[in-house]
Amino acid sequence: MSIPSTGEILVAGRDLKKSYDRGRVPVLAGVSLDVQAGEMVALWGASGSGKSTLLHLLGGLDVADSGELTVCGLNPHNETDRLTLRRRHLGFVFQLHNLIPDLTVEENLRVPALAAGMSNQTMRARTRELAEAVGIAHRLDHRVQDVSGGERQRTAICRALMNSPRLLLADEPTGSLDEETGDTVFSLLRHLVNERGIAVILATHERRYAEQCDRVLRVRAGKIVA
Ligand code: ADP
Ligand code: MG
Repeated sequence: MSIPSTGEILVAGRDLKKSYDRGRVPVLAGVSLDVQAGEMVALWGASGSGKSTLLHLLGGLDVADSGELTVCGLNPHNETDRLTLRRRHLGFVFQLHNLIPDLTVEENLRVPALAAGMSNQTMRARTRELAEAVGIAHRLDHRVQDVSGGERQRTAICRALMNSPRLLLADEPTGSLDEETGDTVFSLLRHLVNERGIAVILATHERRYAEQCDRVLRVRAGKIVA
């Protein structure tokens, strides 16, 4: 059973515009969106339509040229707010897992928890709980470079969840996986939304994943179209 959305607005974006190369490459041409707590929303669009750019703005990895944006009640463009967002409220999953290959799965999971000042005991319990939830507990002591692509992406999802975020930003998290592994990773995200009430914004060009989200925002040429 899906946990009903509380109706709390986690993301409120108004007329966000973004271009690169001093205006020569317009990317976002006025995007407005609202995302509520506990919902899974697809940003669905072709490659180059602006999905990653929008996710980067939402996560404070990049700054809009104009427009208004609030994420979890904070302003991602403000440095103090951005740190709080990253440490307490947001998790990121990228197409390429961005893990540290030389470290073990468990050590990778500890990175965001250490940054947030989590105690050793809590960290150990949380690491195990999440690893069990996604079926990688038997890999905790293995180095990331020695586990499979699907296991890496599941590790990346655990890492993003370590600090119990309310919002997960996932940028083509299945994009580097074969179809079957991609389906497993998508189902896992879907399950986490249902079980834990985490909101997910999933950028994808794949219709079959978009269709399994609660809501689809179609991105075309830097705009959200109906
Ligand atoms: P998507 O994630 O939907 O594939 P992106 O948001 O990555 O789309 O990119 C949208 C457009 O912006 C593309 O044309 C891309 O080349 C351009 N772009 C993205 N980042 C930059 C950058 N840092 N500098 C210049 N152009 C960029
Ligand atoms: Mg992209």
